[in-house]
Amino acid sequence: MRSSDPAQAFRLLPSVEEALNDPALRVDSAAERALTLELVREVLELWRAQIKSGALDAVRLEAELAAGGLARAVRERREREQRAGVVRAVNATGVVMHTGLGRAPLHPEVARAMADAAGYCVLEVDRESGERNERDARLSALLRRLTGAEAAIAVNNNAAAVYLLLNACLQRGVRDEVVVSRGELVEIGGSFRVPDVMERAGVVLREVGTTNRTRIGDYAAAIGERTALLMKIHTSNYRVQGFTEEVEPQELAELGRARKVLTAFDLGSGLLDLDGLAPLPTAMHDEPRLRAAVASGVDVVTFSGDKLLGAPQAGLLVGKRAAIAALRKNPVYRALRLDKVALAGLEATLALYLAGRGDDVPARALLRLTADELRPRAEALARELSALDGLAVEVVAGESQPGSGSAPGVFLPTFVVRVTHRAWSASALASALRRATPPVFTRIQDQAVLLDPRTLLAGDDVRVVAAFRTLARG
Ligand SMILES: *Cc1c(COP(=O)(O)O)cnc(C)c1O
Repeated sequence: MRSSDPAQAFRLLPSVEEALNDPALRVDSAAERALTLELVREVLELWRAQIKSGALDAVRLEAELAAGGLARAVRERREREQRAGVVRAVNATGVVMHTGLGRAPLHPEVARAMADAAGYCVLEVDRESGERNERDARLSALLRRLTGAEAAIAVNNNAAAVYLLLNACLQRGVRDEVVVSRGELVEIGGSFRVPDVMERAGVVLREVGTTNRTRIGDYAAAIGERTALLMKIHTSNYRVQGFTEEVEPQELAELGRARKVLTAFDLGSGLLDLDGLAPLPTAMHDEPRLRAAVASGVDVVTFSGDKLLGAPQAGLLVGKRAAIAALRKNPVYRALRLDKVALAGLEATLALYLAGRGDDVPARALLRLTADELRPRAEALARELSALDGLAVEVVAGESQPGSGSAPGVFLPTFVVRVTHRAWSASALASALRRATPPVFTRIQDQAVLLDPRTLLAGDDVRVVAAFRTLARG
């Protein structure tokens, strides 16, 4: 019989019972035994499929089994599962609001407020009267004060905010059209496409203008009996350049008032423009500003909590009293409202701004760091790493990015540590770093791993060195 005969390979496969008797797979508790049983089944199933497809033959399988391959495969699966999930990570990519790594990093005081709210907390009760109240009473007050809006409400993310807004402005069969510029029909991160969200929310999209130019007259001409909302959407993750024209929120607000139609501006990033805050890098100057958007007079402004505002994930809606009250009355709001932990984090972040400490909000602070400030940190990290075996290390000028669809094409000058390994490729090195505890995420460029100190939080420098040190040993 040839070794490539699948029947022979199938005969070599142990039964689940036999596999569980392997001393290398012995476990103590019933729960662990149940998990091991599941994993053994999964590995055997995978091998069966590989035999069937010709990817595994009897010779290799026999060698694998003799070398304890089944127990190893089970162990690796268990470890991979344990490593998965939401665990702390080190962001050495230089992408400040990295969607894959949790977007805006939170201030330690904010993290503490969130941990404090995890048990019991004052959520929907008034401490004076003992009566039931709104969970976001304090949050709304903070948002009103900081943005200058008359009222505010919060949901899980900005996608939900836009959905709530669209759904609430809809009067089915009466007013169901939402007017949007053809230049602003954005897709955010693959699954959030404005036309699709509109359809799901039950409204009818009425496109006006062209991809590059839309004027207020285009909006005005589209208003009819069925118009429910005039909407402006910030093109967060792309720019239309050249022969372009877009409608200013003031113009939209005036038109809406004159024709008695609701108006809204989806701002996306939520850059708070308080007096006294240090400016963000000039490369980011065309990000729309929150107070300015509210002051434009549109009825509703929507934005994310975890982009430039630097708070936990949330969708915030601020604006005119009547418009926000209508959102609160919509039953969809109940399905999208925030949980206590996110609320506590939002309140704590906004409290920092209100106390004049907005510059300490990490998302903003990290964006403001200059190359001059980052250089000594890159050099210190490089010194530590060059003491380790097998690494070639140098400090070079580089570029960080804001990330998360804010400020496309904006690169912030930085200094990065460029690392190559004597034996490993850059991608093998990066992959090993991702498997460290805590995992370290890096950038690869020109066959080298780059470490950008911009996004290293307190204590992360030490964690990076520790991750490299375990590699050197392993
Ligand atoms: C990011 C963004 C969204 C989606 O916000 P999430 O908080 O990620 O749900 C919607 N609209 C605009 C303009 C955005 O930039």
